[in-house]
Amino acid sequence: MPESESITPYLEENGPTPRSELPVRLESYHREQGVWLFRLTSGVGDTQPAGGQSVKIAYLPEHKKEDVCRCFFEANPEFVDAQTYRSASRQLSNYGREWIDACRPVIAEFFESPSASDESGFDTGETETCSFCGEPVPKGGLPAHLQECSER
Ligand SMILES: [Zn+2]
Repeated sequence: MPESESITPYLEENGPTPRSELPVRLESYHREQGVWLFRLTSGVGDTQPAGGQSVKIAYLPEHKKEDVCRCFFEANPEFVDAQTYRSASRQLSNYGREWIDACRPVIAEFFESPSASDESGFDTGETETCSFCGEPVPKGGLPAHLQECSER
């Protein structure tokens, strides 16, 4: 019964949800309905193939960033294994200062925190939005993203 389903009510009820657990396949029109995708990608020195196989998290703008972030870490134990407090923080900071500020406690739950002196110096990089998948991408990082963009 694919009646151009909206998953917004589902997300409103269930909160941020791994893409693989959504009741319907995510389509581009869901983006137009205000559904966003969140994913951190594996960084340099990672043991996974480029981009990793991390599961994206579908969420709504009204969802708390820390809940989105926690959902991502819970859905991607391989990512958590492969990353450190600093590398996860750095990647999250690519989403903007609001994200890193909101999610720092979540990062501390999943990663061992380094000494306080290591915590400064995050980039508060600006992002631009991929027109294919709607993901925020670090400014200037679009060419690299497009090579691995799953919606392209
Ligand atoms: Zn993309």
